[in-house]
Amino acid sequence: MTEKFIPLIDVRQHQQTIAIPNTLSAPNGSLMDSFSRPLHDLRISVTDRCNFRCVYCMPKEIFDKDYQYLPHKSLLSFEEITRVAAIFLTHGVKKIRLTGGEPLLRKNIEDLIAMLAQLRTVDGKMPDLSLTTNGSLLAKKAYDLKKAGLKRVTVSLDSLDDAIFKRMNDVDFEVSDVLKGIEAAHAAGLGPIKINMVVKAGVNDHEIINMARYFKDTPHILRFIEYMDVGASNHWQHNEVITSEEIVQRLNDAGIPLQQLPANYDSETAQRWQHLDGKGELGFISSVSKAFCQDCSRARLSTEGKLYTCLFATNGHDLRALLRSDEQYADLSIASVIASIWRSRTDRYSELRSTQTSNHVVTGKKIEMSYIGG
Ligand code: SAM
Ligand code: SF4
Ligand code: SF4
Repeated sequence: MTEKFIPLIDVRQHQQTIAIPNTLSAPNGSLMDSFSRPLHDLRISVTDRCNFRCVYCMPKEIFDKDYQYLPHKSLLSFEEITRVAAIFLTHGVKKIRLTGGEPLLRKNIEDLIAMLAQLRTVDGKMPDLSLTTNGSLLAKKAYDLKKAGLKRVTVSLDSLDDAIFKRMNDVDFEVSDVLKGIEAAHAAGLGPIKINMVVKAGVNDHEIINMARYFKDTPHILRFIEYMDVGASNHWQHNEVITSEEIVQRLNDAGIPLQQLPANYDSETAQRWQHLDGKGELGFISSVSKAFCQDCSRARLSTEGKLYTCLFATNGHDLRALLRSDEQYADLSIASVIASIWRSRTDRYSELRSTQTSNHVVTGKKIEMSYIGG
């Protein structure tokens, strides 16, 4: 019998060496990449762990009891996260979103929120502070999150049918508990709440209509997300994607006509729609069928302090090494490093994917969604 060895690569170890630029220049609140895209949003992953095993994100066969999560000492501390976030704000970042893994699993997350809420943008405003969660701990935590300074939450919910939802989260979690979390967040003033539904063909696509009907008469914004080829664990196939266009058509065919709304701002990821009678806003995130790379103003900070300039990146820039270096780099040095990384950014993975027949437009192994956050 011949044995087959499959070499495993831990992409979290891949990183580019960071050099401090020879000339340091103070941030002026505006930073453009090589395609003239500004840096406006920072997504911070606060944990790579999760209590769900969503089939499209952390499938059980890979994220099992032997999976090596990051050890606690490699996580950025709240002080380190706050320092990096403050530096990003000097470059013009206005929005900060906490994500994960499941961000509400990070112990004392409300303390981090309170620290971030003290920061100010270059216009002297509080950063727009939000968080994406699976909702499992939201009923318990919503009030404290709001009190700490969180503005809004996005809650992921892929179905209203318990059997389907449980099949997707793969840990037997019930829909009613997520709905309780959404109610608690609304009551705490964390609205308007966005509800993220990842649509996977043959798994939950028949729930599109139920979800649209249910959320129509609520103040929440239901967002349909095209299933993406993030990471390497979910064995993504193009034929598992239901495009936004098809969803609009299906809703129309079911007697739920929609009309399009103007974008709130340039780099908005979701196209906005509402029901024809003016009720219930909906969002469509067409990352596969209609790439929005040309307006992408998002940087991502991983749980262990690596900076990624694209969700589909294979390499991160190790900012933690600078934060913890014996050289005791000043904020100006770190700001200059970030500026140099952003200025040379050329990422446009989704755009390239849509112009190629194969999905292999990157050569290395892509990072996982649970590692970098959505
Ligand atoms: N655990 C939190 C949650 O589920 O909301 C935050 C992290 S999760 C990685 C962020 C978002 O990414 C969620 O809305 C999730 O549904 C979405 N997501 C994960 N894998 C995805 C995929 N393959 N395609 C599209 N969206 C995905
Ligand atoms: Fe966990 Fe969110 Fe990924 Fe689901 S999508 S497995 S809840 S990190
Ligand atoms: Fe931004 Fe990369 Fe997504 Fe394009 S593929 S929108 S550059 S994160």
